[in-house]
Amino acid sequence: MKQSWNQSSMKHENKRLVLQQIIADEPISRADLAKRCGLNKATVSSLVAELMDESLVKEAGIGESSGGRRPVLLYFSREAGYALGLNVEAATVEAALTDLKGTIISQETFPAGDTAYESTLRTMEEALDWAQKVVPASPHGIIGVGVAVPGMIDRSGTVLNAPNLQWRDRPLKHDLEDRLKLPVLIENEANAGAYREYQTRPDADESLVYISIGTGIGAGIVLNGSLYRGQSGYAGEIGHMTLDFQGPRCTCGNSGCLELYASEPALVEKARGSGLEDCKDFDSLVNSAGNGHELALSLFTEAGRALGSGVVSAIHAYDTKHIIIASRGGEWMKNAVRDTVRAKALPHYRDDLDLVFLDTRLPVASLGVAGLMVDEFLKGQNAVEKGRE
Ligand SMILES: [Zn+2]
Repeated sequence: MKQSWNQSSMKHENKRLVLQQIIADEPISRADLAKRCGLNKATVSSLVAELMDESLVKEAGIGESSGGRRPVLLYFSREAGYALGLNVEAATVEAALTDLKGTIISQETFPAGDTAYESTLRTMEEALDWAQKVVPASPHGIIGVGVAVPGMIDRSGTVLNAPNLQWRDRPLKHDLEDRLKLPVLIENEANAGAYREYQTRPDADESLVYISIGTGIGAGIVLNGSLYRGQSGYAGEIGHMTLDFQGPRCTCGNSGCLELYASEPALVEKARGSGLEDCKDFDSLVNSAGNGHELALSLFTEAGRALGSGVVSAIHAYDTKHIIIASRGGEWMKNAVRDTVRAKALPHYRDDLDLVFLDTRLPVASLGVAGLMVDEFLKGQNAVEKGRE
């Protein structure tokens, strides 16, 4: 019995490998696929036949011939199903529908009214209704819903704490699966963004740190090609990294945390306290900076220095080539961040550093969590296969 389990498990692994290789290298012939996977041609052909039965792989076109018959090429059927990604923010739910390769099909923003848990669930139901109207016909339909939340999520998909939404201990995955009748995956917003960046940057190495700045500051960390969640799932809380241990008190109970110097509410509060009394919100502060308002510019510079110190610690801790910063105020902070990194990071780290400021108008977190949902789906497809054997 043991041997049969091993064989089935090996077949499962091989099928996963074949699918991954097709996704990475399409279009590809069966012969090249066999070479790249290190499997024999007969094994590859039978696994490909199964993947074609499941509508995940298709044949098309004719490849380059190296003499003799020209090979048929294999493609990943990116339109075999679609994933819905939702990013829950304080006032909105941002939705993005993607194909199985992460290409955006349609996007929409739904006003949530307030951050109350019940009404946000209803907004997410509305988003799924919308997706079901716009999704193209396909064999697998909408394969699941990924939800990005700015907070701490445990492994069961419960939101333990999302301070900006004022949610505590909310079993979001359970509640949504109950309502939406589809598989649901919950992920921290910065982790989702990090995953999207990792998936889509053509120059991406295997590792990067993605820093998301909004009401709070969080980081998503990709190490050696996978999201690093830490032992309990809470890695990346860099907003609560101490910049000044004798600094002001933070809501987390610690003192002088990065968030107190560089988050959106911190900047708005500083603006109001230093002569910009009519500063309504973060957008108006960004506008003031855009209009060359000196005080606004100097506030962003100061925040950029604080953020730069946080970036230096992240570089020293993780030694990744790419640090990606997503902030609506990035344009006005980036020089100070770069200067701080140049002045404070150890030379070996900063030599090859690629520090990127991201356009936050892109629905990065929604797209990232849709991508994670697709990965779950593709793994699950094979798991079903494994269960059948
Ligand atoms: Zn703190």
